[in-house]
Amino acid sequence: MLLSGNAKLLGRYAVLLSGFAKIRIKSSHYFMSKIAFKPFLVIFKGSHFHLKPSSLLSAFRKMENLPPAKAGARPASSFVCDKAYVNGEWVAAKNGKTFDVVNPASGKVIGNVPDMDANDVQNAVEQAFRAFQTWKETTAKERSVYLKKWAELCWQNQEELAKLLTTEMGKPFAESKGELAYGTTFLDIFSEEARRVYGEMIPTTAHSRRLLVLKQPIGVAGLITPWNFPNAMITRKAGAAIAAGCTVVLKPAEDTPYSALALAKLAEEAGLPKGVLNVVTSSRTNAPEVGKVLCKSPLVSAISFTGSTAVGKILNEQAASTIKKCALELGGNAPFIVFDSADIDAAVEGFMGCKFRCSGQTCICANRVFIQDGVYDKFASKLAAKMDGELKMGDGMQQGTTQGPLINQRAVEKVDEHVKDAVSKGATVMRGGNKKGGNFFEPTLLSGVTKDMKCSQEETFGPLAALHRFKTEDEVVTLANSVRSGLAGYFYSRDLGQIWRVAERLEYGIVGVNEGLVSSPEIPFGGWKESGLGREGGKWGIEEFIEIKYVCMGGIGK
Ligand code: ADP
Repeated sequence: MLLSGNAKLLGRYAVLLSGFAKIRIKSSHYFMSKIAFKPFLVIFKGSHFHLKPSSLLSAFRKMENLPPAKAGARPASSFVCDKAYVNGEWVAAKNGKTFDVVNPASGKVIGNVPDMDANDVQNAVEQAFRAFQTWKETTAKERSVYLKKWAELCWQNQEELAKLLTTEMGKPFAESKGELAYGTTFLDIFSEEARRVYGEMIPTTAHSRRLLVLKQPIGVAGLITPWNFPNAMITRKAGAAIAAGCTVVLKPAEDTPYSALALAKLAEEAGLPKGVLNVVTSSRTNAPEVGKVLCKSPLVSAISFTGSTAVGKILNEQAASTIKKCALELGGNAPFIVFDSADIDAAVEGFMGCKFRCSGQTCICANRVFIQDGVYDKFASKLAAKMDGELKMGDGMQQGTTQGPLINQRAVEKVDEHVKDAVSKGATVMRGGNKKGGNFFEPTLLSGVTKDMKCSQEETFGPLAALHRFKTEDEVVTLANSVRSGLAGYFYSRDLGQIWRVAERLEYGIVGVNEGLVSSPEIPFGGWKESGLGREGGKWGIEEFIEIKYVCMGGIGK
């Protein structure tokens, strides 16, 4: 329904005031910040009353009287931006369009950002290309210093950035803080790696020649990132590209642009020169045309994408038109295997983090859970008890929440479809199994899952633990390798021979042995088969943004 201007104003004012009142009487900083998110939107007789584009900013400003979380930390409002960032300017889309960003926990609009299209991206690419001509001439030490400064600002503002992240993405606040630490460490690492991009000398084949290998930045890098790690997937790519001497055009996920823009704001404050980092925001509708410009432009030399296998294939095909180097980190369908010899308590513990972190929305989350016959019942009952005791669904800013909402309704429908399909084919629901309103789906445990079920064939990307029973090592390794994905795989065993055999036989880029949480910024992250191309993180990540040049220097002999 339509509201009159006065009614809107009154409604907004009243809610803001009530938010303020609550802020003043609570003592915990964490709790206060949660309350302060309430004024984002007023529901008036069932109709959504949207605040102006700067609503997120004004909501954060209401928190400015709160103590900063760390020495040097600033109010959250100072890095809430609702414009895109191109060539060092904060800009709207050329056609003035914007799109809404929604808090997945409440379903409410928290603000809007520019809906950029092919024209806007073309311009950003040209600016990045122009900036590359000088950025590539900087020394490794100079690039290292910029990245270090950027990292310092991110560390200082970790808590505030984490609040922003939870607000637009939904994951529990503690997990958001963890993501900020993970993400900022990529900047730390790449500030160091920038100084270690060594060339090589090859023993000569003739006295008159010297053979050298130079490593040089590849050019403009087009980055497309997902919503499940709105900070870390950006720093993992942009940190490496900038360290290598490349400039960047980044398109963040439409669900989580604010974390990307906050990173750009802090990069600007770190003094990163104009045009080195450009952030173009676009809606889901415009994502294909934005992606096409990045993939097909001859001014862009590399693509780095994290997201679904389906979109990765489109981008790889498009990038073939200009023979671009592609780093693709795509979907997984991770096996999690528990052998009879395993420490079952450790396996259950490891599984909880591996499966339920981020409400099951990571590409390395366990998807197919294979439990050997001898320990199947024990594992299932211990897991059910642990889920009862430890998982709490709710708004990510609420203390104690371990399970935030899923990102959107599409995600909820997919989990629901997988549960219904499995049950129709004979699986038993041991826990959960239901939608819980809005974007929430309860943590679910299914027993008796088989390989013909959808949840075995596709990544569920939600809080569904699907238990399969198996008898032999050969059988389970064949099952684990039977899919076209090859990102992460996990197994628990105490048998040393088996540990070596299975670690070597699994066709996966990442293998966790007696570990459910294997990520860290230092390691080569990436998949086999249709899970992707290239590696991100550590010393490997920077190589994606480097060209090798062989120089043959003759005329040296007397
Ligand atoms: P999800 O379904 O989980 O959102 P996607 O792979 O569809 O995963 O999205 C990951 C990223 O890819 C997002 O930034 C999204 O906007 C972008 N994207 C989606 N479709 C395309 C496309 N056709 N071309 C380029 N980017 C795309």
